[in-house]
Amino acid sequence: MSEKCTCGFKGAPPHEDIYDCVEYQEVQDGKKEGQWMIDWAKKLKDNATKKKSVVFKDWVDSSETQD
Ligand SMILES: [Zn+2]
Repeated sequence: MSEKCTCGFKGAPPHEDIYDCVEYQEVQDGKKEGQWMIDWAKKLKDNATKKKSVVFKDWVDSSETQD
């Protein structure tokens, strides 16, 4: 068993990293393999969109007070 495996999987192929464990757990839960990555990408995109609008607001605020 790989030391990097956190889920205790003892079959083959052995888990090489945490992502193998996550995907294995997803299959056990009946989810589509790799769904975590899609969710993660969505979350990242949402956060980036929120951050962008905050930065834009700051830029508008600062440009209004500059002159
Ligand atoms: Zn594992």
